[in-house]
Amino acid sequence: MVVGGGSAGLMAALTLRKKIPALNVHLVRSPDIGIIGVGEGTTLAFPRHFFEFLGINPKSFYEQAEPTWKLGIRFLWGPRKYFFYNFAFEYAKKLPELKCANGFYYDASSPWMDRASAYMAHDKAFPRKANGLPQFHKNHAFHIENEKLVGWLESQCRQCGVQIHEATVEVDGTRDHISGLVTDSGQRLEADLYIDSTGFRSELLGRQLREPFISYSDTLFCDRAVIGGWSRTDEPVHPYTTAETMDAGWCWQIEHENFINRGYVYGSDFIDDDKAVEEFIRKNPLIEKTPRVIKFRSGRYRRNWVGNVVAVGNAAGFVEPLEATALQVIAVQCSSLADGLMDCLLEPTPSFVDLYNRYNSRQWDDIRDFLAVHYKFNTRLETPFWLACQRDTPLHGAQEVVDYYIENGPSFLPANILVDNYNSFGIDGYLAMLVGQNVPYKKSYRPGSEEKQFLKNYREGLAMEATTHGMGVKEALDAIRDPSARWA
Ligand SMILES: Cc1cc2nc3c(=O)[nH]c(=O)nc-3n(C[C@H](O)[C@H](O)[C@H](O)COP(=O)(O)OP(=O)(O)OC[C@H]3O[C@@H](n4cnc5c(N)ncnc54)[C@H](O)[C@@H]3O)c2cc1C
Repeated sequence: MVVGGGSAGLMAALTLRKKIPALNVHLVRSPDIGIIGVGEGTTLAFPRHFFEFLGINPKSFYEQAEPTWKLGIRFLWGPRKYFFYNFAFEYAKKLPELKCANGFYYDASSPWMDRASAYMAHDKAFPRKANGLPQFHKNHAFHIENEKLVGWLESQCRQCGVQIHEATVEVDGTRDHISGLVTDSGQRLEADLYIDSTGFRSELLGRQLREPFISYSDTLFCDRAVIGGWSRTDEPVHPYTTAETMDAGWCWQIEHENFINRGYVYGSDFIDDDKAVEEFIRKNPLIEKTPRVIKFRSGRYRRNWVGNVVAVGNAAGFVEPLEATALQVIAVQCSSLADGLMDCLLEPTPSFVDLYNRYNSRQWDDIRDFLAVHYKFNTRLETPFWLACQRDTPLHGAQEVVDYYIENGPSFLPANILVDNYNSFGIDGYLAMLVGQNVPYKKSYRPGSEEKQFLKNYREGLAMEATTHGMGVKEALDAIRDPSARWA
């Protein structure tokens, strides 16, 4: 029994039903309590989950959810004018022609060491094939309007036999066990396992079982967002999210085909809502309609699986959206739950539940640690918020990687030793953020003339390829919609 029909509930129901068809999966959602309705940027975990793990044909996704492609994030952050962090693991590499790892050769005037960021810099998403279709690669995620994503998820759920009920429920049970749900019309719903996807309300795990909440507020100072946007006119559809430093936080720009979505994430200890809205509108004068303010808290419940309840999505925890990781966490929660249930032959053991909890706690904490590096080293503005971030942000699990970097520079040797295999950002993510923010390191390396010449030709070659063979997002969308286009 999945409680909640936001992206988390629908993803959980779909994953369980698709992977374990023998399960009867019900989903109950309240017609009165809406969904959060934000969450429009994704990471690589999204296409992997749906198109590889669940094996769904992407055709219906493209038709109904109308996504655009995201190759990474363009940060207006730190002392450089901008830098890219993409999904192609550009820093955890060393070109055979060069002596050191890629990060040692960062050049702010042509900030690419690989195809992905050269394409981003030229507003291109994919190479163009001879037949005019995009050459898809695996280094992309999506931007998706939340409502359309939820619509597609719901249709996928219905197609594979998830039974959807409309009711607001109250929870019946003790502090360590749920015995049932009671709908507003008095009907009783019972199940063997309950998935709490009730969003921030966390009706089962938080309210009924009273699992303690571990706050991340010592590290992540933002707790609100103001959201708005405008209809696209002639702006190019960038193949990336933009993350821009603001006075008391940061602002995303997410690229939909016909709409530009903006959101200012801020710390309410540093700016009040009215002033945040004022700054948001002043810097984004095209915003249509009154922007809406959302409150949140970053942190996670100590355990996500307690007794006969597994929480998924915001009901289990939330980390602010700087790396757009919520749908990624949900995907991992759902896949590890489905895999685990199958391996336990549908009778989860205490050791499996414990492992599931440790694995998922680590996921949340890893994201907090990675974001800490974004906040601690962003020297772009000297406002009270950013000065506090530089001074007071603890690095937790990121401390060792940062110490290594400060002594040794952007070497990727610590991969898998200081950053474990489960960390979705990997050493590459850390290096992208440290090099991108121009965090100083003690070793200095100056390339010789041969290396310099090689780099010049190499970078010019990538730029030339992007401009002549690259397809922009709009062009690629038109190409795949052409009636003659065929899906493999
Ligand atoms: C400012 C902001 C920006 C974000 N940006 C991103 C992003 O770029 N990328 C990303 O991946 N994520 C992002 N997220 C996170 C993302 O929006 C959510 O994690 C995701 O949508 C999952 O939400 P949910 O399904 O857990 O909760 P919700 O969408 O809130 O759904 C809760 C569901 O529970 C139901 N419910 C609640 N109580 C009851 C009850 N008593 N009875 C029956 N039903 C009930 C509701 O009806 C609803 O269907 C962002 C979040 C915020 C706050």
